[in-house]
Amino acid sequence: MGKQAVTVIGLGPMGQAMAAAFLSGGHPVTVWNRTASKAEALAAQGAVVASSAEEALAAQELVVLSLTDYDAMYAILEPAAPALAGRVLVNLSSDTPERARAAAAWAAGHGAEHLTGGVQVPPALIGKPGAATYYSGPREVFDAHRETLEVLTEADFRGTDPGLAAMYYQALMTTFWTGMLGCLQTLALARAHGVTATEMLPQVSKAMTLLPGILGSYASHIDAGRHPGDDARLSMGAASMQHVLHTNRDAGLDTTLLSAVDEIFRRGMARGLAENSFSSLVEVLNNPAE
Ligand code: NDP
Repeated sequence: MGKQAVTVIGLGPMGQAMAAAFLSGGHPVTVWNRTASKAEALAAQGAVVASSAEEALAAQELVVLSLTDYDAMYAILEPAAPALAGRVLVNLSSDTPERARAAAAWAAGHGAEHLTGGVQVPPALIGKPGAATYYSGPREVFDAHRETLEVLTEADFRGTDPGLAAMYYQALMTTFWTGMLGCLQTLALARAHGVTATEMLPQVSKAMTLLPGILGSYASHIDAGRHPGDDARLSMGAASMQHVLHTNRDAGLDTTLLSAVDEIFRRGMARGLAENSFSSLVEVLNNPAE
């Protein structure tokens, strides 16, 4: 039996990498993109370029969506809705869990299935070992298409709630964006003191290797709702954060991010968590109105 045919709608860097991976894997591929020129390289590699979204939907049962957000999906698919019946939409576009749930209901209303996906790697790692994507939605639909989807990345099924894959993805992106910005702040501080990013980066990387070990013990404390400050107390963290803030301010840097972190420490202290560990700040995050 031949490889399963796939339609890919959305040819930003991610959609292009996905369509190329399907082509390399021997899958017949139909593509469509709002800006038609982005399909040219894929056409040269053997993709069929549909002349409309409706034609792209009609071409194959399995339709991978790689769009900026779900608004883009509605903008493209609403006018082509008559072609949705019988289609499996694998929505690898970023958006919120609530919007993923609404999209699954919307797709069902048009006779289509919807799998939510959250890709954990950049386009360069699509089709490479070790890459993974979160999926959620109807289990039987996922199972039926798993082999084809694993041409892109490993498929990590999280459950039948269509919002789950989006939750996992946004949770990871929470770490990614705040962590990346923290690193950028560090490099900016070093730069203000004449230390290059290239010189500083190995120090940042070394510090980051400590995090999984520290977080490992905090995870059980968070789950138990107890935060013993045996190794380090929140009061120490709050004082340290003040030094961080002032060092960055003295260097003339933008301290928006650091002021926000400082504010969270202050709220923890105001709630009487001084003798607890850093992990107790999770109670501030989960209950902001207290
Ligand atoms: P881009 O935002 O660069 O491109 C996505 C596509 O969305 C383009 O084809 C664009 O069309 C289309 N699009 C956006 N708005 C509309 C609209 N209103 N109507 C029609 N088409 C629209 O995203 P990427 O390719 O980088 O990523 C795709 C998805 O994958 C995103 O949701 C992203 O969060 C996620 N992702 C991306 C990663 C990355 O590193 N790039 C990593 C992990 C996940 P046009 O070409 O015409 O503008």
